[in-house]
Amino acid sequence: MSAVDFRQRLRELARFEPSGSPVVSVYLNTEWVDEHQRERVRIFVKNALAEARGRRWADRDDLDWIERQSGTLIGRAVFEDANGAVLFACGSASLRELLPLRVPFDDTFVVDARPYVRPLAGIVDDTPPALIVLADGVSARLIALDASGVTDETVLQAEVPGRHESGGWADLAQSRYERHILEHREQHFAAVAAAIGAWTERYDAHHIVLAAEPRSAAALRKHLPEAVAARIAGVVAGARHESSPVIADRAAGVLARVAQQADERRVDEALADAAEGSTAVAGVTATVGAVNRNAVRHLYVLTTFREPGAVCQDCGALQRGVHFTCPFCGRGTRTTELGEALVERVLASGGEVTTLESHRPLAGHGGVVARLRYAA
Ligand SMILES: [Zn+2]
Repeated sequence: MSAVDFRQRLRELARFEPSGSPVVSVYLNTEWVDEHQRERVRIFVKNALAEARGRRWADRDDLDWIERQSGTLIGRAVFEDANGAVLFACGSASLRELLPLRVPFDDTFVVDARPYVRPLAGIVDDTPPALIVLADGVSARLIALDASGVTDETVLQAEVPGRHESGGWADLAQSRYERHILEHREQHFAAVAAAIGAWTERYDAHHIVLAAEPRSAAALRKHLPEAVAARIAGVVAGARHESSPVIADRAAGVLARVAQQADERRVDEALADAAEGSTAVAGVTATVGAVNRNAVRHLYVLTTFREPGAVCQDCGALQRGVHFTCPFCGRGTRTTELGEALVERVLASGGEVTTLESHRPLAGHGGVVARLRYAA
């Protein structure tokens, strides 16, 4: 599944219309490094299913499906390189979805009228398509990466001629040989650079991570056009014998740092614009107001933000706190968690959502800031 599809799928989930039976949403951390962690996830799922069955929270078929799917995930029968997985089930609405992802989640099991999308929203925004390039003087491997993991890879191999002659004229032969190798090396890096340019375009790679020795990285950089070189997010170690998922995991650290820094910068900018008061609003009350007007283009919210709220059963308007009637249409409301409701509403109306683990100035503004579609 491509990154574009992920974004589209996320929007569809945010627009989900409740259908009578509830939706089961499950997020799992499948990045286990030992059997103890695997067992922890297995027990988490087992207990959550037992409770949901005991209280008849969800349809039996949906819970059975969740049990089967999570069982094969935990047994590593499928998606063995995924570090996280998301499952949604609501049989009465024909919703059965298993999304393998390259980033882990906190184990979460939610039964509600709607899909629980907030953790997924945070991931999709922070894992745009990227390209990893493992390169040395004679070969290269291009690895395309998106939120789900490695999506494509190819190996490029230079044909460096062997050393044919020896004996007389040895010195001359050696110097010619070295010059020859050097020329070929430059041609190799030029060819790799051309391939990087093509794949960057093909996979819409926002960032490139080089897995190379400093000398090879420098040689390669020389051949990259400015616009492509500007996408290099960092350089990590990498050896030809290593598997693509192993190299991808290493590069993911660099990509996560880049995404986090970009998020923090954009929040700072949004807060500054909110202070000027035209193209952004900060704080819970102002953000709820903007969401009710469908005016939010990009919502930034702390992952820890949680607050009770009310949503109108009729017009969908959100309110902070517990209310029994809607201030706009006077109809009845149901209680909701405001953070999830804001995320859903912004996604459903075509806006973007970024979640942040921590950001002190944002926390000082109640944990939310929103860029508006138009000046308020
Ligand atoms: Zn209303």
